[in-house]
Amino acid sequence: MDDSSLDITADTEPGTFYSEGLALGELRFQRCDWCSTSLLRPRLLCAVCGSTELTWQRSTGRGRVVGSRQAPRKGHSPLTAVLVELDEGFSMESRLVSSTPAIVPVGARVRFGLVGEGAGARPVFRLEDTDWRYGRRRTETRLYPAMN
Ligand SMILES: [Zn+2]
Repeated sequence: MDDSSLDITADTEPGTFYSEGLALGELRFQRCDWCSTSLLRPRLLCAVCGSTELTWQRSTGRGRVVGSRQAPRKGHSPLTAVLVELDEGFSMESRLVSSTPAIVPVGARVRFGLVGEGAGARPVFRLEDTDWRYGRRRTETRLYPAMN
C-alpha cells in the first residue's frame, strides 16, 4: 500500500465509497492487489483476473485525452466530452470545461475537477496546458507515449 490507499470499512458499498469521494472532490478507484489493474467502476471482483482483493485509492486526477466528441444541446452551444486516460491507468468520459476548444488534441493533459456542489456535483475535466487553445504545442516539455 502507498499513501494514496484509503481505509475502507468492510460494510461500505463500493458505489457509496466512490460517491463519497466525489462529494469530497476526490476521484477514487480500485486497484487489484494481484494484477494491478485499475478499475473506475466500483466492483467486487477484478475485471481482469477475478480477484476479490481490491484496494481503494485516490487518483491524482491527472491524465491525458484519448478522444473527444461534441455533444449537441438544445438552445445551447454543444458540450465537449472527452475520454481521458488517467495516470493511474483507468479511463473515464466526462465533460471538458473552461475555455473549451472545438477540437481537443489527443494527448492534451487534463485535470479532474467538480462543478456544482453536494449531491449535484458532477465530474469534469479542465485543460492543464492552455496553449492547446491556440493550436500551439510545447513539444519541448510535453512528450506523450505512443497510443496502442
Ligand atoms: Zn486482477
